Amino acid sequence: MRADSVDTVLYLAHTQSEGALSKGALEALTAARELTAQLGHAELVAAIVGGDIQHAADSIADCGASKFLGVSGEAFAQSRYVTDAAAIEAICRAAQPAIVICGSSSRFNRVLPGVASRLGGCADLHATEMKVDAGNVFVTRWYYRQRIRAALTRDKRPWFVALEAGSYAPHSSAGGSAAVESVPVSLPEPGLRTNVEGLQKPAGQTQTIRPDANLLFVAGAGWTKKQADGEAHIQDAETIILEFLGKSQASLGGSKSLVDISGTGQAVLSFMTHLNQIGQTGAIPRHPRGLSTCCHGEEPHAVGWRFISERRAINLDANCGWAHGKADVLYVADAFEVMRKVNALLGNQ
Ligand SMILES: Cc1cc2nc3c(=O)[nH]c(=O)nc-3n(C[C@H](O)[C@H](O)[C@H](O)COP(=O)(O)OP(=O)(O)OC[C@H]3O[C@@H](n4cnc5c(N)ncnc54)[C@H](O)[C@@H]3O)c2cc1C
Repeated sequence: MRADSVDTVLYLAHTQSEGALSKGALEALTAARELTAQLGHAELVAAIVGGDIQHAADSIADCGASKFLGVSGEAFAQSRYVTDAAAIEAICRAAQPAIVICGSSSRFNRVLPGVASRLGGCADLHATEMKVDAGNVFVTRWYYRQRIRAALTRDKRPWFVALEAGSYAPHSSAGGSAAVESVPVSLPEPGLRTNVEGLQKPAGQTQTIRPDANLLFVAGAGWTKKQADGEAHIQDAETIILEFLGKSQASLGGSKSLVDISGTGQAVLSFMTHLNQIGQTGAIPRHPRGLSTCCHGEEPHAVGWRFISERRAINLDANCGWAHGKADVLYVADAFEVMRKVNALLGNQ
């Protein structure tokens, strides 16, 4: 579709449990503002779904939206397909957007394709960029586990785009007072069949996954291997890594080898689960910095590092994968020694 036929860009967000917008949602707002500006004559409309949305709307009151739409109330406080789909459908019918931009979240990702289908539109999830080129709107996303990057455009409208966290700078705002127009939603009869009773956390003893951390610390299987004295030092490894995570507030990643060893019940890092795994078959983190330790840096592992801006590694092996262009800096050193020293330098933070 030509840019000149686009009139409304709808920014869509849901509140977090405490009523605020997530960092990813604020990043999507930056994308929506930038796209609206690139389109020139387009109008930005903001819409929020949640239990109580006024605080969230006020926090972005000065974002440049011509109006704020909202669906709120107890039924919309929790993530549930039927209520979320009905809310977004009602918002879209009210706003008649050409393009809908939101941050990727499990809550929105599962509902957007269904809503797009109801409205005769289309949806692209896991996008990393939106821009206008030669009058057309393009969405960029990665395929084949971050190996191929494609820019695509679509004719169908409304076009829903969910942006991956870490792709844009979060919108920062002084806040203000937003006048939210409430959008009526009709829920299906005879009522709601699904209720969220609680949240279950991953099986690790310690919460180690911090998506918003400045640094990703990756532990490889080397932490569990026999060291120069012929012994494995798993207890030391645990202490060193946990101390570093506590002081730096870094997020913890693991290589496939390491998390697989955990799965076989061998004595390994007790806080490491499969949810920590980074790489081709693991998570694709988007932290500004990454430090890989005792991990060889083979391609399936390093492919998940595409979105880490500054990559460093510590390995005893000067010929490890990181030395072959996969890291900006490689320290050929004993990670036990280096991280003990780093912990000492960090002091009592
Ligand atoms: C299809 C496919 C998909 C895969 N997907 C993934 C994936 O998503 N993620 C992933 O991680 N892997 C993946 N793998 C596996 C990957 O190829 C590697 O086998 C794995 O990542 C290796 O883990 P590692 O580097 O921790 O362990 P190892 O290969 O055992 O390396 C341990 C490293 O620790 C170093 N070391 C030991 N002691 C010290 C010390 N004291 N100080 C410093 N360094 C030390 C050693 O020099 C060595 O380089 C995949 C493989 C395949 C075939």
